[in-house]
Amino acid sequence: MFEEILPGIYRIEVPIPDNPLQTVNSYLLRGKEEDLIIDTGVDNEESSVVLLSALHKIGAKMDNINIFITHLHYDHFGLAASLASNGSKIYLNARDAMFLGDANLEERDLIHGRLNGFPYGELQEANKNRDDVLNNLLIEDIKKSFEERTENALPEKQLFQLIGDGDTLHVGEYSLRCVMTPGHSSGHLCLYEANNKILFSGDHILEGITPAVFLWPGEKRNPLKEYLNSLDKVFNMEINNVLPGHRSSFQDYRGRISQIKAHHYAREEEIASVLDTKGKSAYQIASKVSWSISESWDRFASELKWMALAETLAHLNYMEENGRIKSKLQSDRVIHYYL
Ligand SMILES: [Zn+2]
Repeated sequence: MFEEILPGIYRIEVPIPDNPLQTVNSYLLRGKEEDLIIDTGVDNEESSVVLLSALHKIGAKMDNINIFITHLHYDHFGLAASLASNGSKIYLNARDAMFLGDANLEERDLIHGRLNGFPYGELQEANKNRDDVLNNLLIEDIKKSFEERTENALPEKQLFQLIGDGDTLHVGEYSLRCVMTPGHSSGHLCLYEANNKILFSGDHILEGITPAVFLWPGEKRNPLKEYLNSLDKVFNMEINNVLPGHRSSFQDYRGRISQIKAHHYAREEEIASVLDTKGKSAYQIASKVSWSISESWDRFASELKWMALAETLAHLNYMEENGRIKSKLQSDRVIHYYL
């Protein structure tokens, strides 16, 4: 399914099989010589068929298409390799690009899991299906496929065009300014078109879905603080229409931002209510707060527990930096958080 939102701007709804999100939005912008696609959907037969048939019907320049990735999550860039032609540019922010070909992922996850009380057996299980592992495999695929296509034409380091806050892409009559919005991923980018006041928001703001904020192993940052700052940044912009990465466009972005912030503040209170002066590991804390899944914690799939841990850690990190809680490495080499 696709629709023309503005002259030369199309929203294509691409299915994500077996995922509660159901669909992801790809946007095609028609240019004079080159078209631009914003996000692609997952690397899957069903998604690929839907996306390619829509692009075909729209009459996209399949031999001359550039790709903009709002953030390096597999539902947004999975089909990038198969869409790219020789000479295509794949735009990505440098902070997300740091995850490209990360060789130390496994070892770092093991240390991180142990420090946060994540049972070893569950981590082994989670490793098979985890999103960040999937991302990493896909990134390797993209690199391989892209290298094959661009053999002798493009040195490896130029596979991705790294762009950042304030950089502008010109497509047809549209000028799209990159707005750095770290939080949901460390290098998340939105695109703002000032003449029509439209924002391609990726997963930074969505309606009906609260974008998750994670602290991943080895990251030395405060992702929730970054995310809340990025919400303020967009709150202060003049926007007529938000074109998100999932579901329909919406206009009341300020109302939506207030709701998302309220959700995170309520979450902070819930985590505080689980803590005491004796201390608990992040894994124990994650097991005691509520999640939007009806199953009990013991029945969560291991990879969901891993994501829940990353979300909990984003909150714990934020609360600790604000001086609300403390943490201490115990003699059993597990970090405990306490009031
Ligand atoms: Zn997404």
